[in-house]
Amino acid sequence: MRREGWETSETLLPGERLAGSVTTSYVRPMNKVVVQTTSAYPQPSEGAAARLLDLVHRTGGLTRAEATARLDLPRSTAGEAVAELVELGLIELGPAARQAAGGGAVRGRPSPLLRPDPAGPVVVVGRLDSSEAELSVAGLGGTAGPRRRIPLPSPGSDPRRALSALAARMRQAVEESGRPCAGAAVGLAGMVRATDGLVHSALHLNWTAVPAAEILAAELPEIPRVDVGKDASFAALAEHRRGAGRGARTLLMLACEHIGIGGAVLQQGVSFTGAGNAVEAGHVVVDPAGPRCPCGMRGCLEVSADGRALLGRTPADPGDPAEVKELFRRAAAGEPGAAERIGAAARCLGRALASLANLFDPDRMVLSGVLGEYLRVAPGRIHEELAASVVARAQAPAVVAGTVAGPVLSGAVEHAFGPLLACPRLLAEPA
Ligand SMILES: [Zn+2]
Repeated sequence: MRREGWETSETLLPGERLAGSVTTSYVRPMNKVVVQTTSAYPQPSEGAAARLLDLVHRTGGLTRAEATARLDLPRSTAGEAVAELVELGLIELGPAARQAAGGGAVRGRPSPLLRPDPAGPVVVVGRLDSSEAELSVAGLGGTAGPRRRIPLPSPGSDPRRALSALAARMRQAVEESGRPCAGAAVGLAGMVRATDGLVHSALHLNWTAVPAAEILAAELPEIPRVDVGKDASFAALAEHRRGAGRGARTLLMLACEHIGIGGAVLQQGVSFTGAGNAVEAGHVVVDPAGPRCPCGMRGCLEVSADGRALLGRTPADPGDPAEVKELFRRAAAGEPGAAERIGAAARCLGRALASLANLFDPDRMVLSGVLGEYLRVAPGRIHEELAASVVARAQAPAVVAGTVAGPVLSGAVEHAFGPLLACPRLLAEPA
């Protein structure tokens, strides 16, 4: 049977109170709105259930007493929410404990553990970048499970065929889990429109104007929602919810695996998308006399500081991420040639960060993959550029390296679980 998912026009942040009313849009797997209703909030048990499920998901499990206290819920409301989530097969009650799951002491009588139901729903997530393709299945409470490497589409491959093969592997992974699927998300290196998953351009695959989310959703009608997004946006979500971006009000993320540099801005945890294609940070010009970028301009950040640029390679022969690692190792060991090359690229990175900081005024900037290595090996160059060029505030915002392992898949998990966390009844059969 084909299920329907839904989304709300407002996203509640952890701990935020429900108020006013929200418009609920019922959507089919192709993300086309078919029914719109407006329902009044708060609806105590549903609102509390969503907040409780989000808390169990973020913590991986905690005692009922601790959850009740952290969400500031009346005990009766918490009890109703727990009963609802257990009935929906989303959480289960573990043995009573005094200890919080995170190790913190909880006073008072032992309280049952609330933890994700091991037979509860999963999401299936994927990542396609210039050198790797992989997918994973994850349940509530966790980051992505074991990764499975899958064949990388070759440059110029037929997108429909490549995405159809990816969909078949995603379906197989869900079937092997033996659990219901709440959603799917695929992070792709390239310019991807956030509103509908249209791949405007994925240079490493030679794909242009590919409706990737639409193709995948048509291949996977049994999954309530299938999204395709920019890999940097998912990495930002992972760092914001589980890593170096926790607590940031406005988070700027730059990510680079080897070829290309992606960017994302999250404001209060919500992606800034513009009309869908915002924050193409890899194409901020840092050196107008620099090398030609595949986008047509000269001296873009990504042709000045991505892994391929560091190795002095070409699009036809991009080199290997292992060679980049070796270059950073040599620079860290003080080898002058390597240090000079890394230092020059780090300056370009600092210059781009300063421009972006002036535009978005983030309170934290997170660098992942190759870019995190610059921060480890040549932090001075980055900070000098920031100090010289950030004019939007008295002090440049903090720059930190990402801490989430596999941030794109982890962020895709967070994204794919979003509708279920907002509406725990998502997978329930209509009455
Ligand atoms: Zn460019």
